[in-house]
Amino acid sequence: MIPLVKPFMAPPEELMPALQQILYSGYIAEGEAVYSFENKIRDYFGNPYMLALHSGTDGLHIALLLAGVKPGDEVISTAMTAEPTNTAIAMTGAKVVWGDVDTRTGLLSPEDVRKQITDKTKAIMLVHYAGMVCDMAAFNQLSAETGIPIIEDAAHALGSKFAGKYIGNNSPYTIFSLQAIKHMTTVDGGILAVKNESDFERARRLRWFGLDKKSSRLTNNIKEVGFKYAMNNVNATIGIVQMNHLNEIIATHKKNGNFFDKQLCNVPGVTTVPYYPETEPSYWLYTCLVEQRDNFIAAMADRGIVASPLHLRSDRHDIFANAKRELAGLDYFYSRFVHLPCGWWVGDEEREKIVDSIKKGW
Ligand SMILES: *Cc1c(COP(=O)(O)O)cnc(C)c1O
Repeated sequence: MIPLVKPFMAPPEELMPALQQILYSGYIAEGEAVYSFENKIRDYFGNPYMLALHSGTDGLHIALLLAGVKPGDEVISTAMTAEPTNTAIAMTGAKVVWGDVDTRTGLLSPEDVRKQITDKTKAIMLVHYAGMVCDMAAFNQLSAETGIPIIEDAAHALGSKFAGKYIGNNSPYTIFSLQAIKHMTTVDGGILAVKNESDFERARRLRWFGLDKKSSRLTNNIKEVGFKYAMNNVNATIGIVQMNHLNEIIATHKKNGNFFDKQLCNVPGVTTVPYYPETEPSYWLYTCLVEQRDNFIAAMADRGIVASPLHLRSDRHDIFANAKRELAGLDYFYSRFVHLPCGWWVGDEEREKIVDSIKKGW
């Protein structure tokens, strides 16, 4: 079977010496390896205000706090995502308010989000699902008009771009995940990208109990409750080695995604997804809409290919029952979309096989 997701690990001859060195170095907590991983990340994205964390979920939680989200506030978000996007909002005590999605892309509709704004709206959470980028031109304008900050959940969108720059340079808050199945993994890990020194310094304290790591423990003074969200030197060492392969990983996802876009756009029963102006997806998974989806999934499985949706829509969880509303756009998209394998493990032969299998019909 060609799997939908697969963790990339750098070759052992490259990774193991580095890992062995750090494991027995006497310093495996947050330290120099983390700081040098962060420097690599900042260079890659071109944003100096980025922090490595223990997970993407931690990044979401800190981003929400930096945006000023408090119990009783509202955050507009999407149900078309993985669980952490919305459980992180729930962690702050704020209410999730669903925006509906564009039926063509499954990404939040700026028009519908605008209609959900109230006096209580403190942030808009965008998810670049499967690596497709939301309509950032429209959302940037909405944010500028209303003063409501945008948080980008870019867990699926490492290497995606808007206006020629990597995602991670646009909104006040962006998070990435380095969890097992994302574009690049450190086993577990996350990245928070902010846009100014004060958010950066506050995030740095929040990731370590509220302590300022620059002062000694005995002179420190916690002024705001923080968390244990720091990355450690072991995960960071994996990240440093993995980064040697990042360009190649992202390039393969994009090359395969572009190939599927071209090959599938005229296949009967398949509708490809349009991309918004000035956005470039990084195709974590390839996404398209198909007719007779159950038959499609079964036919592809018969031909050795995993093709399927990945996440349960978040509005089906009881914890979000108080946010229930009609989401006609999501109903449409959710009943028709599938993902196809698209990542570094899909070579020329595999992608030809995927396209041929689809062209045979279902
Ligand atoms: C994976 C993921 C996260 C969080 O990632 P962790 O690193 O596992 O905490 C957040 N949002 C989305 C959409 C994800 O898929």
